[in-house]
Amino acid sequence: MENVYDVAIIGSGPAGLAAGLYSGRARMNTIIIEKEKAGGQIVTTEEVENYPGSIGEESGPSLIARMVKQAEGFGAKKAKDTITDIQLDGDIKVLKGEKEEYRAKAVIIASGAKPRLIGCPGEKELTGKGVSYCATCDGAFFEDFEVFVVGGGDSAVEEAMFLTKFARKVTIIHRRDTLRAAKSIQEKAFKNEKIDFMWNSEIVEVKGEGIVESIVVKNRESGELKQIDADEEDGTFGVFVFIGFMPQTNLFKDKVDMDQRGYIITDDNMKTNIEGVFAAGDCRVKSLRQVVTACADGAIAATQAEKYIEDKFE
Ligand code: NAP
Repeated sequence: MENVYDVAIIGSGPAGLAAGLYSGRARMNTIIIEKEKAGGQIVTTEEVENYPGSIGEESGPSLIARMVKQAEGFGAKKAKDTITDIQLDGDIKVLKGEKEEYRAKAVIIASGAKPRLIGCPGEKELTGKGVSYCATCDGAFFEDFEVFVVGGGDSAVEEAMFLTKFARKVTIIHRRDTLRAAKSIQEKAFKNEKIDFMWNSEIVEVKGEGIVESIVVKNRESGELKQIDADEEDGTFGVFVFIGFMPQTNLFKDKVDMDQRGYIITDDNMKTNIEGVFAAGDCRVKSLRQVVTACADGAIAATQAEKYIEDKFE
């Protein structure tokens, strides 16, 4: 068959790259399609200390760079393109990109997840102007400034601690009076003298002319609204939001089975409800979204894609 890949992988985070490595290594003609730069969310992480074998100075970008090299070393090709439409029902799947059309015998969806937004007025307008979703990317801009962190999970508390390297004070604004973060992470945060907490609170507006100048915080118990203005000398402060993630699965809606939140449903072999279509990593329903589990998903999906192709086409 002409111009038909064995496996097309959508997304090049750890799940997509692990799938690419396994697929390439199985000598399958493999393409990994990515709309942004390789790596997914992990490239925004300064330190990866919980991926087995990565000890010491491993950063998200350095880990991803090695994963890309390894997948390419086994022959997986990469394409920078945005898939805008898909046909998954036939034996040959068709992925329509902005630049090209890709045809493949099997598809692995590894499209990941993106940060959830607060959804309050001013947030979008001031993103990149004081509002951020990535401490590694933007923390250094707030050297000696004040910073507010929204959320109470592992990400919020870990990133708040990271931000204390730069900011003179970090206040975690959390909507409840207890954190969701792992106890070991909480302990470190409570000991950190630069970290303060604003409990039972939520940001209802971010204000500023071209840069964040103030936030309006609502106390969820009393309903009281309080405006917090930037220190006059500073003129601004940072608002870092870490309140969970949303799966990047809109493209597959009504085509692949999903749960209510839009995560793709698979079996233990990463198979979706459609023959020849697999899902791996943060975009699927699972209990733990980490690099280690994303890589495992990718490896399983590629191995199962190989089996599927052997049975179906050879
Ligand atoms: P998460 O565990 O889902 O926590 C999200 C936090 O944001 C919760 O505290 C939640 O509050 C709050 N929240 C959700 N929607 C909100 C809204 N609209 N307004 C205000 N607050 C809101 O998300 P995560 O911290 O990003 O972690 C995601 C996954 O990655 C987790 O499985 C986590 O364990 C993992 N992770 C692990 C590590 C590590 O092991 N080192 C590091 C980072 C992340 P409630 O508590 O009230 O629901």
